[in-house]
Amino acid sequence: MDLFEYGVQQRMGREAPLAARLRPRTLDEFVGQDEIVGPGRLLRRAIAADRLFSSILFWGPPGTGKTTLAQIIANTTKSHFTSLNAVLAGIADLRKVIAEAKERRKLHQIRTILFVDEVHRWNKAQQDALLPHVEDGTIILIGATTENPYFEVIGALVSRSRIFQLKALTAADTRRILLNALGDTERGYGGVEVQLDEAALTHLVDIAGGDARNALNALELAIETTAPDAAGAIHVTLEVAQESIQRRAVLYDKDGDAHYDTISAFIKSLRGSDPDAALYWLAKMLYAGESPRFILRRLLILAGEDIGLADPLGLVVANAAAQAFEYVGLPEGIYSLVEATLYLATAAKSNSAGAYFKAFQTVEAEGRVDIPQHLQDANRDAKGLGHGQGYVYPHEQAGHHVGQQYLPTALLGTYFYAPSAEGHEAAVQERLARWRAAQEKALGLTETTTLPEMSEAELQAAKRRLSR
Ligand code: ADP
Repeated sequence: MDLFEYGVQQRMGREAPLAARLRPRTLDEFVGQDEIVGPGRLLRRAIAADRLFSSILFWGPPGTGKTTLAQIIANTTKSHFTSLNAVLAGIADLRKVIAEAKERRKLHQIRTILFVDEVHRWNKAQQDALLPHVEDGTIILIGATTENPYFEVIGALVSRSRIFQLKALTAADTRRILLNALGDTERGYGGVEVQLDEAALTHLVDIAGGDARNALNALELAIETTAPDAAGAIHVTLEVAQESIQRRAVLYDKDGDAHYDTISAFIKSLRGSDPDAALYWLAKMLYAGESPRFILRRLLILAGEDIGLADPLGLVVANAAAQAFEYVGLPEGIYSLVEATLYLATAAKSNSAGAYFKAFQTVEAEGRVDIPQHLQDANRDAKGLGHGQGYVYPHEQAGHHVGQQYLPTALLGTYFYAPSAEGHEAAVQERLARWRAAQEKALGLTETTTLPEMSEAELQAAKRRLSR
């Protein structure tokens, strides 16, 4: 760095926004997040000992200290520290970093820590490119993401990393950060006479919603745009504070209950076919900064679970909306999200796909079952055991249908699927009734049972077993 660059950097340091100037330089200046950096915690010990054991993913809402923690590690480690922003940097930048890291390791035995901000913004191919170098230790990755890494980061990276979840800062934490800013003579407003009303402080803390950057930006704006009074003091009243902070609902309460309650109200409104309520809860979530991708994932689930075959386009529309959103992003990407919401709210509804879980339960409960001989694979019948013998090819029959047996003998006459009479599925119901009658006649079945619908609790329990 020459003298000119040094001067520019010094000036930038002074002129940088308050939040950037006040970025904690050490863990002692870092506020809150005790669960991950409190006394004795693994990450605190690892930073103190300068021994990062593996790659790390910091996951949490904006302005809660992800980048700051990475910077603190940068300030304390003997390893080389370099950073990339996944929104701005691509594969070429990554290759350059990797080449330099290899060189550094070979010539000087120095490790490289690479910080990738918003790592979820890299696509799979870009994330894949990191893998071999994380694997062989050329690079220790510190990724930061506001999105759930189990969905947004490739599995191979997640399994090679330790995930640390940061929470929205508590009201007490945010208050402390604001008061530190007022008191700091070197980087904050310690040298300026500021009178911050209690109501103004409470308002800033409330509306910031646990985002320290948001709180500090608002405080800075309030102070910088208010003229000192006759005595030379800058008076920040509630009105000034209200004007200074961008309104953001405090959706995420401490335990995230509001987050789950709001998405639950949204999904229930869709299932209940109330487009107005669905739009209201959608707006509420987006206003509060909920991730559109999270909402789109829930729409995909709902399309399968609650619209089902009553309108098979439901899943297509939800899927198209999710893809369109990836291309367009906010703000215009909102249309695909809104259209999918309205489509699903007003579509015919069926939960008949839940029939799968009746079959799953049956399989769980039964012992060894033989596959009927005529259904077995004739191509693998090298030993002449009669596999596939007796099978009738439906397309050669009238109406492309033949009444033959497909279930194991013990289950003959058992029906899992009960199509609804809604939308597209009404036609399915009619067709299936005909086919089942033909099959019953051909097989001489006098008794059939349609397994009863499972209760909500049974369904949930079966789903949990399914995902184990
Ligand atoms: P992000 O989680 O979005 O990466 P940053 O770590 O960049 O957020 O935080 C933005 C600013 O907010 C920092 O420059 C710092 O001033 C303040 N900040 C965030 N978290 C904390 C914290 N835990 N303690 C003190 N200041 C914080």
